[in-house]
Amino acid sequence: MAMLSSRFMWKRILFQRGMAVAAFFLACSISFVPRTAAQAPPPLAAAPKALQTPARPKLVVLLVVDQMRGDYVDKFLGQWTGGLKRLVEEGAWFRDAAYPYAATETCVGHSTISTGAFPSTHGMVANAWWDRKEQKMVTCTSDPDPSVKNIGYAGATPKGADTAWRMAVPSFAEELKFQTSGATRIVTFSLKARAAITMAGHKADAATWFDGGAWVTSSPYGTMPFIEEQAKAHPAKADFGKTWSLSLPASAYWYGEKALGAVPPDGWDLTFPHPLRGKTGVGEPDSAYYEQWASSPYADTALTELAEKAVDALKLGNSNGTDFLAVSYSSVDYVGHEFGPRSREIQDILVRLDKDLGNLFAHLDQRVGRGNYVVALSADHGVVPIPEDMQKTGADAGVLHLPKVQEHIEKALESFNYAKPAVARISGSDVYFATGVYEKLAADSNAMNAVLDAIRTVPGVAAVYRAEELRDRPATPQSSTQSPAHRAFANSYFPGRSGDLFVLPKPYWLLDGTPLGKPRSYGTGHGVPYNYDQHVPVLLIGFGIQPGQYFQPITPADIAPTFAALCGITLSSRDGHVLSEALKKPLASAKNTNP
Ligand SMILES: [Zn+2]
Repeated sequence: MAMLSSRFMWKRILFQRGMAVAAFFLACSISFVPRTAAQAPPPLAAAPKALQTPARPKLVVLLVVDQMRGDYVDKFLGQWTGGLKRLVEEGAWFRDAAYPYAATETCVGHSTISTGAFPSTHGMVANAWWDRKEQKMVTCTSDPDPSVKNIGYAGATPKGADTAWRMAVPSFAEELKFQTSGATRIVTFSLKARAAITMAGHKADAATWFDGGAWVTSSPYGTMPFIEEQAKAHPAKADFGKTWSLSLPASAYWYGEKALGAVPPDGWDLTFPHPLRGKTGVGEPDSAYYEQWASSPYADTALTELAEKAVDALKLGNSNGTDFLAVSYSSVDYVGHEFGPRSREIQDILVRLDKDLGNLFAHLDQRVGRGNYVVALSADHGVVPIPEDMQKTGADAGVLHLPKVQEHIEKALESFNYAKPAVARISGSDVYFATGVYEKLAADSNAMNAVLDAIRTVPGVAAVYRAEELRDRPATPQSSTQSPAHRAFANSYFPGRSGDLFVLPKPYWLLDGTPLGKPRSYGTGHGVPYNYDQHVPVLLIGFGIQPGQYFQPITPADIAPTFAALCGITLSSRDGHVLSEALKKPLASAKNTNP
């Protein structure tokens, strides 16, 4: 049953860290939102005007493309004809959007977009981190509560228990539902639990992801009949035997046939076409097939179909409240890890996603009405070119081997009185020491300096930061003594979850946790405070949005506050800001309504 094996899922999580490692609310009958003539109390005709609520979008749509660099829009816009083109040409395009923190990873980015807060506030500091109490790695969505269980559609029996309990603030969607008397329906989809869950929040009408060859959810979110139907009618395995071929003439592609340093899924080679037939090319869907499927445009199309079914089945955008629909397209991330950003695969999957999004918008126009819904599209992070490819340019690029960092630390402590191993885990930039070791080091400057010096001598290391240098972020938000990288690590720092020391690689050096002497199981990754990982698109279109190109620096944490402003609600955090320049002013519909 565990087709997309847990090994595969962990590989997905770990290679991003550079490690080797509802009961649902059908048209709520009571709502405070616009009183219709039928609901309004009869006489005293003067009153209702003052009670009218300013217009709000009927539906808020959040779209996240996992691992979409900001420059993909600049590069490939000319080849798009569908939804991506519409977003750019008819919407508000923020051309200088970037995450202001270091941990540019999936769980972190989605939580930031969803809450409007930085990781130092929302606490989702990575896809997975070292739990000091449990003395093990935990994923951002893993929930130890024994009453929580993952639930499979179409008879699947998934393992694990995933929720948003570790996310320290509510999502925009949760706040919307809570602050508007519950009329809001919250529905999210992704291939990844850490995307579907964080976009939804702690509770939702449906949060659905893909695991073990099946669509799954978990107990706080309940199940939906329309998803069950779709899971039975068109399961992922129905795409078995299809082939991913180039959709444009070969001359339309920017890069060569074979991406240098790429590591494709089992059963694929470096050139198109890519067959979706598993490891051997014959027989039944196997784990290799599901890896191929997740790395293909067919998975994006499956997510789009689910979103369209949700709109139809729940009549999203046609209730008394404002509904929330979110989709995170995971496949660009898988393709980017495998083939790198300079590949025909990345260019082609975006051409296909553009078509899917065109279909989704056409569906929303028809069912909800153009102008009645608002869409934001962004990404959770970018990606660094494959180091072997980057080296061709003559630039200083390479692989920063994290096991080497550990080796250097252990060796440096040999002349001091420390138990071995001193390091419990290195996960991405975060170095976690064994229990008690960091406290001892902090009081032992000779040993601490020896450790810091030893890390600095590992090839590819640019700087090392100590936890205590990051903890006082609120006191010195604009301190001129801090470098941008230092500030970025501070914006990522959450006490108890973040590491003890933080390794900043040189630009274009990939953090890699593969055991020394073994080949990497992926092409490239992300997760550091350089603009290639931080710079992502932010595009808004629809209700209340003033089209145009905007060049002021913003962050994806600004999306949720902007949605909140359009919906007239308040978020708990002020890390993000309202993108007021892209909002239509004045709110014509607000005139003459409030006293
Ligand atoms: Zn990734």
